[in-house]
Amino acid sequence: MICVPATSHRYPLHCEAQLRRVFAQTMPAVAYTNGRYGPIAEAAISIDDRGFQFADSIYEVAAFLNGRFLDWGKHLWRLRRSLAALHIKGVPSDAALSAIAHRLIARSRAHDGLLYIQISRGVARRDHPFPAASRPTLVMTARRFGFAQRIIQQRTGIAVITLPDQRWARCDIKSTGLLPAVLAKQEAAQAHAFEAMFHLPDGTVTEGGSTNMYMVDKAGTIFTHPISAQILPGIARDTLLAIARTNQLRVEERAFTIDEARAAPELFLTSTTAPILPITRLDDAAVGTGKPGPVTARLAALLWDEVEQQTGWRADAAPFSAF
Ligand code: PMP
Repeated sequence: MICVPATSHRYPLHCEAQLRRVFAQTMPAVAYTNGRYGPIAEAAISIDDRGFQFADSIYEVAAFLNGRFLDWGKHLWRLRRSLAALHIKGVPSDAALSAIAHRLIARSRAHDGLLYIQISRGVARRDHPFPAASRPTLVMTARRFGFAQRIIQQRTGIAVITLPDQRWARCDIKSTGLLPAVLAKQEAAQAHAFEAMFHLPDGTVTEGGSTNMYMVDKAGTIFTHPISAQILPGIARDTLLAIARTNQLRVEERAFTIDEARAAPELFLTSTTAPILPITRLDDAAVGTGKPGPVTARLAALLWDEVEQQTGWRADAAPFSAF
């Protein structure tokens, strides 16, 4: 039997932090694969899966905090949109997908984490046209994720490099065909940067390798590329712009150029995994003062309020292990 003293802290603080870290590492990362729940290491799909053969597949990433999904309805909406674009049929209903997702995060025992949903056209002998009959492959995974690390990055800012946008003409589909993003993000990593900012030959900034991009001008107006086939309609983007407008901040969904970005006082990015991060270095130059700017800081505060409203998660109460 273990006796614990009846004080507010059962162990010295540093021990408790260590225990939490050890516990976090033993939390299982779990998968759902075509009806089976189990550890990720034991999950398997066929090598004839069209997701593997052709990237004939789409995906979705949703954050859960305090065991509750953020913007879940919007993620389901985008999932259906991507499936429709690829003409993938026979996917379980939203209610069924939601039930699997909730069961999976409960099994993961993680409070805060990321749920990935991957759906391919299914398994068939390799041939480019759609197979006459195939059942979609449905995979979900749930892993813990420390959102508190983003709070630290919000205070320090992040570095971003600029790269030509070498992707296809349907960037609005959340396809698992991510090779240009993989190569760009590898270049960013080698440059010790968090992300790559993509631009077209005319200098127009589209978005990041896995994020949406924003510029704040001297008057405090927030600019971002309008919804089009050249960007992914980010869920964090949608939520952020709604919050900004509700709070009387000026928003213009108008593309900006790489030259405008270099001269801007503030730049930032958003995504599900990085709800909002100030960009304080662009290539070799500081952005603005080189410190996170006031508009980005205000938006970050408003965004975490929204997260708290939806999930009850509070940045200042984030578990130590989340770091
Ligand atoms: N753009 C691209 C290219 C992305 O891959 C992502 C993240 N998947 C985003 C933007 C951000 O989208 P969201 O806010 O839905 O995570």
